[in-house]
Amino acid sequence: MEKELSGVIDTLPGLVWTASPDGQVNFVNRQWRDYTGLSLKDSCGDGWQMAVHAEDLPQLLERLRASSSFEAEVRLRRFDGEFRWFAVRANPIADESGAVAGCCGLNWDIEDRKRREKFLGESKQALETLQANQELLDLAQKAARAMAFDWYFKQKINTWSPQQEALYGLAPGTFDGTYESWQKLVHPGDWPGVVESLKHAQQTGIIAAEYRVVWPDGSIHWLAASGRMFFDDEGRPFRMVGFTADVTRRKMVEEELRHSEEALDKARSELAHVTRVMSLGALTASIAHEVNQPLSGIITNASTCMRMLDADPPNVDGARETARRTIRDGHRAADVIARLRALFSKKDVTSELVDLNQATREVIALSRRELERNRVLLRTQLADNLPRVTGDRVQLQQVILNLLRNSSDAMSAVNDRPRELVFKTELDDDDRVCLSVRDTGKGFDQQTMDQLFHSFYTTKDGGMGMGLSVSRSIIENHQGRLWATPNDGPGVTFMFSIPRTIETHEVSPGGIDLKDQKRIARKG
Ligand code: ADP
Repeated sequence: MEKELSGVIDTLPGLVWTASPDGQVNFVNRQWRDYTGLSLKDSCGDGWQMAVHAEDLPQLLERLRASSSFEAEVRLRRFDGEFRWFAVRANPIADESGAVAGCCGLNWDIEDRKRREKFLGESKQALETLQANQELLDLAQKAARAMAFDWYFKQKINTWSPQQEALYGLAPGTFDGTYESWQKLVHPGDWPGVVESLKHAQQTGIIAAEYRVVWPDGSIHWLAASGRMFFDDEGRPFRMVGFTADVTRRKMVEEELRHSEEALDKARSELAHVTRVMSLGALTASIAHEVNQPLSGIITNASTCMRMLDADPPNVDGARETARRTIRDGHRAADVIARLRALFSKKDVTSELVDLNQATREVIALSRRELERNRVLLRTQLADNLPRVTGDRVQLQQVILNLLRNSSDAMSAVNDRPRELVFKTELDDDDRVCLSVRDTGKGFDQQTMDQLFHSFYTTKDGGMGMGLSVSRSIIENHQGRLWATPNDGPGVTFMFSIPRTIETHEVSPGGIDLKDQKRIARKG
């Protein structure tokens, strides 16, 4: 009977064991031995503990020693070292007197259930993360006014989100996912640029394009797309993933800015022109007025004189008197001209110390936009420790600006070589500070060279022909020279030199005493 019972216990679908109240095992069935690989002897006493996962052992021991029914889930080591989850159920065993003599337990494999639970838990977590990510993405898309796209355009699979369709003014689900339909949505004027960007993406894998789209209601919106292009094994693109953002507002602001900058530029150049014309106009009016008076006096007196001489008898005294008045008016006219000339040549130059490097940098800074627009490459070779000169900084800057503008104008039609402008300063062997402006412009021939510095000589449509003649008189007023030479290659170099100022460096608390500056007289 006992043998029969033991055979039944050995075939039960579970691991059966008995233990004394202190947790010492005294029996295990064959299933336990087969599973753990431990013999009956090895399993008895504390030996069974070897088969229990270290993390699960303390709670199991605690329950065993409580000598009451319990249930637990523990990991048991299989003979090959692998742990599997088991459910444990144990009941106390009573002896004949009814006292607790130990307990008897059954363990069964719940590994598959545990795995399912784990998988379900992980999936749920993944789903929650996905949902959170989606919410985050929606939020980001809304905040950035941008929408994600994932477009398998070769297979014509439309994976545009409804928001993406909204960017094109389309109702949800109405975009058919074909390249041709997309092209129809893009503004025809911008399509070549889009194609160009796609070609670029085919080489680099990077998508970056800005283009207008025309909504079904006719309104125009700016979109900016950026993302990645993916290629199949044969190198053909099949998928584009990225973001499209509505940048209409940004574009509008940019456009307004550009317009206002253009208007500003136009106003500035008009102002410059008007100032030039006005100053010349005002000058002409004043010359006309000042010279006209003595001239009309001369004409009146001369005709009176003629009449007096023609009389019979001739009124010689009267004629002499009117001739005297004619001479007086003639002198007056000459005086006017002399005064104007003195005004123009402005003999008294403002005496300040001028750093030509600094003056040049300021002029360049003012003209940078003009040069950029004219695609002029600017280089400077400004000498270190350049001595200063004495003079009128504003006038000298007028000269530099004039040379810069002339060079820039002379290069505006040049397209077969770089438009290069080089500003160079140096101290020459004669102790004169030199500034040269070298360009690669159209240049001029020998005949023109003689006329360049004449007033009113110009080859430009809107030119005044005063720039170089005024510049020369300014430089000469600084005891300097201004001249031009053709380059070896294309273009010309304009150059001026002014004697340096020796600074005595007798610095009073108020600064440099200008009276102590001396110009070095021109040598030779
Ligand atoms: P404007 O610039 O009004 O014509 P300027 O006296 O400054 O008056 O220049 C006179 C002329 O000299 C120009 O019209 C141009 O023909 C010629 N010129 C001046 N600078 C250069 C240059 N860097 N290269 C070629 N020609 C020049």
